Parts: sequence; structure tokens; C-alpha cells
Amino acid sequence: MKDYYEILGVNRDANEQEIKKAFRKLSLAHHPDRNPDNKDAEEQFKTINEAYQVLGDPEKRRAYDMGGQGFDVDPREHINDILRSMGFNINIDFSQSNPFAQSNKIQFKHQINITLHDAIFGCNVDVNVPSYINCKSCNGVGGKKEACKPCKGAGKTLTFLGTMQYPATCVSCGGRGYVLTSTCANCNQEGYKRGNKKIKLKVPAGVKHQAMLRINSDPEDRCDVIIIVNVMQHSKIKRNGNVLYSNEAISCIDAMLGCVKNIETIDGRCDLHISPGIQNGQQITMPNHGIINADGSRGEYIVGINISTPTDLDADVVNKLNEVKELLNKKGK
Ligand SMILES: [Zn+2]
Ligand SMILES: [Zn+2]
Repeated sequence: MKDYYEILGVNRDANEQEIKKAFRKLSLAHHPDRNPDNKDAEEQFKTINEAYQVLGDPEKRRAYDMGGQGFDVDPREHINDILRSMGFNINIDFSQSNPFAQSNKIQFKHQINITLHDAIFGCNVDVNVPSYINCKSCNGVGGKKEACKPCKGAGKTLTFLGTMQYPATCVSCGGRGYVLTSTCANCNQEGYKRGNKKIKLKVPAGVKHQAMLRINSDPEDRCDVIIIVNVMQHSKIKRNGNVLYSNEAISCIDAMLGCVKNIETIDGRCDLHISPGIQNGQQITMPNHGIINADGSRGEYIVGINISTPTDLDADVVNKLNEVKELLNKKGK
């Protein structure tokens, strides 16, 4: 995995402002406008942008810090918006050097369902996904190819907008830069063979509902698999951002006298010590039973107390309670 912190030249604990500042400085230095025909600068510019898309987004940054397998980062995503916000009036066309565009990757989205427990602790899941392996007979081309004449094999033609020239996709070859003069019999011009493969997916601890994980497919495979993680609801425990919580009901007698209640946590059953005199809606924090932080420490688990009042009391219970009531009245409580 790339070290996005190193790319932006910031510390791991850098705040949002520092990250934004570093990105601004680097993207100005490596901006393609300032480095015409410099492929290295363009590559660096894209890497800087990719790093900023992850570290500049608190949720993606957190997943990255926790060793997330990958992100749905497309170097084209938002870049023109970011540039415009920085005062550049330009649309950058990265399609020529975009790895996804170049390889014509097929995107396959697949949803997996995992329990809240597995989301908190991480898990391994076997996933069956389609594969589109390059055809060996034609090397994935689909036939015999010949350079496209109108664009001279570049896949792009220049178009004028006012006095500025912008690259546009060649209409004759659809941007591929070549046309086929014969069809490969093995793959019928498709360039690939369709199949299936089983992937062992490592879901990182702390993964959030609807998180997207990209499986790095092998270069021979034209299919880019994106896994969408669906975290199933737990019957009792809920998650709100980085906090796990649940509600527990106790009787009003237990609330007055205090009690120990054996409750369900994400780590299994644990004793919750409730002090005498607890009020309805009060929250008790259990340290070390929450989500797993980036440094491996555990977050908090919060238990909300609901006080329930027993109904259908027997006569002898009512009499006893009246005695208690009188006693309390005498003591002014
Ligand atoms: Zn062309
Ligand atoms: Zn073929």
C-alpha cells in the first residue's frame, strides 16, 4: 500500500488544515500546466491527488490508518473540482494515462453481509467473483490491430475552445488508438475469456456499513472487483460512528438499591455494575468494550439505563411498599 503521508510529506497526526496546505503546495509545484510535456510531473500530480482524496476525507483516512485494503479512488474523481476551488480554470483529461481507462477494466460490484461483531473485529470472507482473463491468442486485443489513421494512434484529437486547445477522444477509434483488421477466433473480438474465481477477502477491523473495498485483481484480469460491505444490524448493540451502545432495562427497586447485571457486549457477556440511585436515561460507560482504535486500543461501550416499573403487584407486595413509602416520607425523601 502507498504511504500517503509520505507522498504529502506530512506527519501521521497532521490535522486537516496541515494536510490541505501540503496538498495545495505540492499540487501547485507539480501541476501539469507548469510542467508541460513532463510525464513524471503528471504522474506525481496524480499520486498527490490520490493521497489527498484519502487523507483529506476523515472517513477514508481512518480506514486507511487502520490498514484498509484499498479505496475506490479514481484519480479523476473530484480533481477538476479541487482545481477549480484553487483558482484553476481547467479541465484535466487524464483518460490517456488513467490506469482504469487504459486497461478498459470492467467494474464489478459485489455486496457482502457481515455481522456487527465481524465488522468490529475484522474477518476473512470467501467471495466468488467473475474474472475476465486476457485472451492468450490475441493478447487481449481481440484481433489484429492497426493504428487509427485520424488520430495517428494517439486516441485523441485536439479540439479548439476559444483560443485554447483541448484533447478530445477520437471518434474513429473511440480513444483506443487502433482499429481491428481481423477478429480473433478464440475470443470473438472480446479480448478476454469469462470465468469465475474465489477470493479470500480480509475485511479490516472497524469497517463501516457500506464501506467499499477494492480487490486488487491481477493484471491479466480485466475485472476490477469492488466489495460493498453491508453490516447487518445487531439485535441489541448499535453503532454510532466510533461508539457502541445498547440499552438495558432494570427494575425501579434495582435502580434504588443498585445491582450487578450480566449484559451482552460485543465481547460476550459482561457484568455491569449499577450504583444505587441511578436515574432513568442515565448512561454508564464501559471502557475497553468499544471499537478498536487505530493504535489497537479499545473505545467505549455505552449502556443507557431504562428503569421499568413492575405491574400487577400482589397485595402483600403493595403492603410492604406502603410501609417503605411511609418510612421514606418520615425521612423526607
Ligand atoms: Zn483514432
Ligand atoms: Zn482473442
